[in-house]
Amino acid sequence: PGLLVLKDIDKTYRLGNLSVEALRRVSFTVFANDYVAITGPSGSGKSTLMHLIGCLDTPSSGELIIAGQRVSDLDPNQLAEIRNRRIGFVFQQFNLLRTMTAVRNVELPLIYAGVPKQERRERAITLLERVGLGNHLQHRPMELSGGQQQRVAIARALVGDPSIILADEPTGNLDSHSAAEILSIFEELNQSGRTLVVITHDANVAAKAQRILTIRDGQLQEAS
Ligand code: ADP
Ligand code: ADP
Repeated sequence: PGLLVLKDIDKTYRLGNLSVEALRRVSFTVFANDYVAITGPSGSGKSTLMHLIGCLDTPSSGELIIAGQRVSDLDPNQLAEIRNRRIGFVFQQFNLLRTMTAVRNVELPLIYAGVPKQERRERAITLLERVGLGNHLQHRPMELSGGQQQRVAIARALVGDPSIILADEPTGNLDSHSAAEILSIFEELNQSGRTLVVITHDANVAAKAQRILTIRDGQLQEAS
């Protein structure tokens, strides 16, 4: 069974009596340990898809199943649970808390999850070492380069041991050197068994994935 299954997903935004069909009959499956890129031009429906996969919004019709759970059957609390436990988000803008050190930023999801202090500190440090920031544990976001901030964000995404890492334009704010570092971390994560879904308009970023899904005008076309 797939970790993430989309069957005939439609998403229509309604604005008064106008409606925008952002996604039309989108179907695909992401299996455990896949590395999938979703790419397409601006306005094609990528963000809409990201919001659905991230349980930040719900489809107008069709079936979305994450780790065996049919998302349409869930109440808001259960959706939040999937969002927090199953999905590790990585954003274009890093979304770190400015006043907190790298370790505190990475620990944060575990604080909400009620993990004891010693354990969460150890997990955060291990992950920061893994992304090459073992010497920057006490740095705050402003004391780090963009690439380093994104590596903190990746460590934070991993800390709750999610089923899927969902990254939205993860290299969109980075120079090419830092972008390459992030992509090599993704490759390592995938080699160690992680499942990655990367949304990007950048064909070079998409090319690093095992599988590329291209979306145009809300419809999916699978290449390679
Ligand atoms: P992308 O991320 O590929 O740029 P989007 O998913 O943001 O594409 O947009 C797909 C289509 O849905 C576009 O026509 C966009 O204008 C429309 N759209 C996206 N979000 C909304 C919204 N909240 N309300 C109305 N229309 C939206
Ligand atoms: P790396 O190649 O490891 O990503 P950089 O060459 O980007 O490192 O940065 C080297 C050092 O300079 C970093 O350790 C960081 O502390 C500091 N630095 C880089 N960019 C910034 C920035 N925009 N603001 C503050 N410090 C920065």
